[in-house]
Amino acid sequence: MDGIARRSRPLGLSEIQHFSCLSPRRPAWEGRIVGQIMKILDEVARFGARLAPEPVCDPCIAQKLSLDDMALASDASHELAGSHGFERFKGVCRLCDQNGMVIRRH
Ligand SMILES: [Zn+2]
Repeated sequence: MDGIARRSRPLGLSEIQHFSCLSPRRPAWEGRIVGQIMKILDEVARFGARLAPEPVCDPCIAQKLSLDDMALASDASHELAGSHGFERFKGVCRLCDQNGMVIRRH
């Protein structure tokens, strides 16, 4: 109805931020997506804080938070690692014992 093609998967955080910078007006559909992303960020932050100082991997974040798309967990952990007291590094996940990219609250 609004002429905007529906995407098969949610936008990633980097795409959202990039787009938000370019667009001074925020269409309602974008606000909904940003709201969803912010909610996921918040949930991932809480989850990471609960496990702190143990590291957790993206797949476990996606699974525990019931995210549709593991890329969302990955985007969220990238975002948190930058500026929310989290660090992202290659290590062993506390939950699944797999070696890979994990996130940990300082
Ligand atoms: Zn894991």
